[in-house]
Amino acid sequence: MRHPAAAALPDLPLATPITDRAGHRRGPLLIAELVADPATRVLEVATGRARTKGGSALTLRAPEPADAERLALFLGEDREATSYLAVEVEAADDDPQWQGLRALAVALPAEQAGMLVQAVGVFNWHAVHQHCPRCGTQTEVVAAGYTRRCPADGSEHWPRTDPAVIMTVVDDDDRLLLGRHAGWPSGRFSTLAGFVEPGESLESTVRREVLEEVGVRIGEVSYLGSQPWPFPSSIMLGFDSRALTTDLHPDGAEIAEARWFERAELLDLVQRKVVGLSPRLSISRALVEHWYGERLPDPPP
Ligand SMILES: [Zn+2]
Repeated sequence: MRHPAAAALPDLPLATPITDRAGHRRGPLLIAELVADPATRVLEVATGRARTKGGSALTLRAPEPADAERLALFLGEDREATSYLAVEVEAADDDPQWQGLRALAVALPAEQAGMLVQAVGVFNWHAVHQHCPRCGTQTEVVAAGYTRRCPADGSEHWPRTDPAVIMTVVDDDDRLLLGRHAGWPSGRFSTLAGFVEPGESLESTVRREVLEEVGVRIGEVSYLGSQPWPFPSSIMLGFDSRALTTDLHPDGAEIAEARWFERAELLDLVQRKVVGLSPRLSISRALVEHWYGERLPDPPP
């Protein structure tokens, strides 16, 4: 019998941060100082994409004077106390030298993937928060890229992260509930998930989402781990939950199909490519394997 032994999820892709974000350094002069210091390492980001050396390491360079005019973000320091700066640049959408996080995340060293997650998450926010939500004035970037300030009313605005829960649902027979989203091909299954609404605890969101999407009532809910998911601005909060009921009523809007899987059955269906699971990049995959007790075969490319 295989049973999950670990109390938490193993190291998740995208979830390893730079050694030290060094938030205390985010003063008004920091970006200019870093651009003037040839020891600074600069990461160029173009609409969520970066360049790499053969896919296995980010391309980093020394600062150049033009960086002072670019949207810039102080990422932090590595173990050798080297400072890292991300700058936003332009690149053609079809330039193959530039690749997005989904393609790079598993290939890059964890801390480099984390730097790109950090930069992409903050730049995604800048891209759609150019104006003050109070008065509409164009805001200014301060605090080394982490804050926008309105010059008219002085209000400050910070990058937002939208919490979403994602969960395994397991019944008394130790079966796992997976759903197929409307619009997904036949055989593609995943854990259920949904955004946290204002006024909700995370546990309440787990119970509401499962009830709404498949009509199952949930008892115990336990936290397993989290993964930043900057597509464009989420954090996925992973839970295990216990089903109190087993009748399935997919809502038809978000979830087209739902079913219970036993372990041997799921392995067999994955091996025969009848069922496809989420790619290894996602916490969904880690949650399913946490229930299963070990790695499952990778989905076909
Ligand atoms: Zn304002």
